[in-house]
Amino acid sequence: MWQAKVIIHNGQSLPFGEARIHPLAVGVAYGAAVFEGMRAYWNPSTKRLSVFRMEEHLARLDQGMKIMRFDNAPSRDVLRDGVLRSLRENAPDDDAYIRLQVQIEVIGSMATTGPVGWIAAAMPRERSTKFKTGVAVGVSSWTRISDNSMPPRVKATANYHAGRLITQQAKVDGYDNAVILTRDGKVSEAPGACVAIIRDGQLITPSRDNDILESVTRATVLELARELGIPTVERNIDRTELYVADEAFLCGTGQELVPITSVDRLPVADGTPGALTMKLQTAYESVVRGTTDAHSEWRTPVS
Ligand code: PMP
Repeated sequence: MWQAKVIIHNGQSLPFGEARIHPLAVGVAYGAAVFEGMRAYWNPSTKRLSVFRMEEHLARLDQGMKIMRFDNAPSRDVLRDGVLRSLRENAPDDDAYIRLQVQIEVIGSMATTGPVGWIAAAMPRERSTKFKTGVAVGVSSWTRISDNSMPPRVKATANYHAGRLITQQAKVDGYDNAVILTRDGKVSEAPGACVAIIRDGQLITPSRDNDILESVTRATVLELARELGIPTVERNIDRTELYVADEAFLCGTGQELVPITSVDRLPVADGTPGALTMKLQTAYESVVRGTTDAHSEWRTPVS
């Protein structure tokens, strides 16, 4: 597997292990940082990489920086160039995961709004080992963060404090992953991915007011489902609806599209990955990798 050699920090390329900020910087001390996780996929026939839905990731980061009230937030052009440079300069010959992060880099207080700095880091990241076989999830006893206290719409690094508590609990309890409920007890998402179920041939996923991250993969899967003739609905999902669903899956940039085969140790249908889930996984794989001509607008070639 290829190795990350360089990281782009504020436009400069540095050896990967040598990027530095002070431990008392507001980005660390108060978690004042927002980020994106993107993937670039290797196309085996063209032997080229392309970044999947980079513009949508950059747009979401802009929204996050606005809500964080960052001073002189780096422009989309600067960040786009940083992402592409992190790939060009590492020259991976396989899939890559890119973390683009903007943080307050100076020592200050909770009132500090800048100056901010940014990194673009391309790294290898393996696909989930459960990609084909599916994951066992448990409904977490932790509650999802909410818009009026810690808005999940902002992909802030600090939100992952909640995500870590949930992940650690799921691990201790012997699950692969967790589903989190909102304060109203409706399904929200997983700590690092969105959740969808199939019932009566319909794809159902929590709507954008269920304290989810407005996921790029979720939007992609909704579009692919409609193209495959699968009706889609965005609405509340009850906990017990997960138990009686015909199929269920997680989706996100990191997870890609992974079947859920049990919830709270109750099998989803017969406990094997669902047929529509696997059909969507195949459609997702061809669109991200560019082994189809469809949706070329979603792939930015790295040249
Ligand atoms: N929810 C959370 C909390 C996440 O961290 C992620 C991964 N970024 C997702 C959902 C999926 O979002 P996306 O499809 O944009 O990667």
